[in-house]
Amino acid sequence: MPAFTDLGLCPDLLKAIEEQGYTEPTPIQAQAIPLVLEGRDLMGAAQTGTGKTAGFVLPILQRLLHHANTSMSPARHPVRALILTPTRELAVQVEESVRLYGKHVPLRATVVYGGVPMDPQTQALRRGVEILVATPGRLLDHVQQKILHFPQVEFFVLDEADRMLDMGFMPDVRRIIGLLPKKRQNLLFSATFSEEIRKLADSFLQNPVMVEVARRNSVAEAITHIAIPVARERKRELLAYLVQDRGWNQVLVFCATRLGANRLSYQLNKDGVHATAIHGDKTQSEREVALEEFKSGRVRVLVATDVAARGLDIEALPRVVNFDLPGAAEDYVHRIGRTGRAGATGEAVALVSPDEHERLEAIEAMIKFKIPRELVPGFEPDSRVVSSMIGAPDRGRHGRSSGRGSLDGGRDEGRPRSGGRDGGGRERADRAQRGGRGVGADRGESRDRGGRAYTPSPRASVPADPIFSAPYQPSAPPAERSAGDAPALVSRGPKRQVAALLGGLPKLK
Ligand code: AMP
Repeated sequence: MPAFTDLGLCPDLLKAIEEQGYTEPTPIQAQAIPLVLEGRDLMGAAQTGTGKTAGFVLPILQRLLHHANTSMSPARHPVRALILTPTRELAVQVEESVRLYGKHVPLRATVVYGGVPMDPQTQALRRGVEILVATPGRLLDHVQQKILHFPQVEFFVLDEADRMLDMGFMPDVRRIIGLLPKKRQNLLFSATFSEEIRKLADSFLQNPVMVEVARRNSVAEAITHIAIPVARERKRELLAYLVQDRGWNQVLVFCATRLGANRLSYQLNKDGVHATAIHGDKTQSEREVALEEFKSGRVRVLVATDVAARGLDIEALPRVVNFDLPGAAEDYVHRIGRTGRAGATGEAVALVSPDEHERLEAIEAMIKFKIPRELVPGFEPDSRVVSSMIGAPDRGRHGRSSGRGSLDGGRDEGRPRSGGRDGGGRERADRAQRGGRGVGADRGESRDRGGRAYTPSPRASVPADPIFSAPYQPSAPPAERSAGDAPALVSRGPKRQVAALLGGLPKLK
């Protein structure tokens, strides 16, 4: 791995990096920084949590250095770099990174996103900024108000492109691209590369280089997966039981809808589990307060919808619970990417009601391994459905086809592709995620607590899989499941290593 000093960055940026305590570049940074400095267009297969933000912010700052000036005149500070993100949270985080990494260079940055008054943003924009981070809808609002135009834009970054697509922002994104000067450098980041993302990339990237984070696959960075069959109407009770009985702290729980998230958090509080919900109905400051409470440990359970949780940077989150299984298999990957980050271990727990079994199978087909089931005594679903949910004994992983791994997983065709701007589109996407409520379960603590019997759980281990360390390969047919595949049986076995699905940071000091 090269050192930061080998990457061609100037002393002011190196100083900021050092002040951040970064000792070496992450894989995506090592790859992306030199390419962006060379002026290449980039297609990056990387998630939040991999250090990708510094991967594009640092070289952009460096390339804009010659424009840096301390003039008070707005005309001397036109927008030179435009960074689009799908959510407010991510926009805020990216702008914070720009400020941190650019603290020793006189370049200006600001962020605009929906759900808050436009005026303060307008004033910041009128003063002039070189680097603008924005969500698409609010950006277009400022364009419409004639506050913004982009004749000097040299860099365009589309962050989390797959999520933009899912949230129905593509028409807005295309409109924005149409407003930019033809001659510019483009960077696109996406966790997944579906056909649609590739088409989008083709439409505006010039001869791009593909960079991808190697997926990690080591003990320390393992994610443990487990699926607990349970009747839908008992999920809440089970979740409360697991949190209390197993002493879970800092649990991020995913619900399909904001209503479901609200209701679950309300009921958990009634059960004596301190919980709070975060979703698009909440104001920005409410979301920030909720996140702070969760990070500080005052709140034990954070209940979120997919969209609201996007871009949250919560370090070393020990456990993610899928209360409702996601309608799109790739969302499972996004969700569990909240755990097992930056060298920590993590646990991904899915509470699966009988009607969600197909979703579980779709997820397994995408991630290419079977998630072990665990029956929690007292919470088993109807015996008539148990056997179909548990399936045949664990015969190891799913048959692996020549598929290209998890980068291009199956989508829920019912997912909306249209929608409004920041807030509205997000919530429409939320609403469209079908399914009810559910709660997550435990990982494999095989002991019997407090005299209560419970089935020893198979430590959801996913076998080491080269698919997760293989580089991205363009178009291949989706992996097929082999005919005899059945969900893994709840059985104990030697602990196998879990592939960390999302790639990410190497061991950071
Ligand atoms: P990102 O994927 O850009 O959201 O970054 C995830 C986290 O990694 C952030 O908290 C960054 O501050 C941190 N980070 C980024 N680059 C490095 C690095 N080279 N060394 C240590 N931490 C890093």
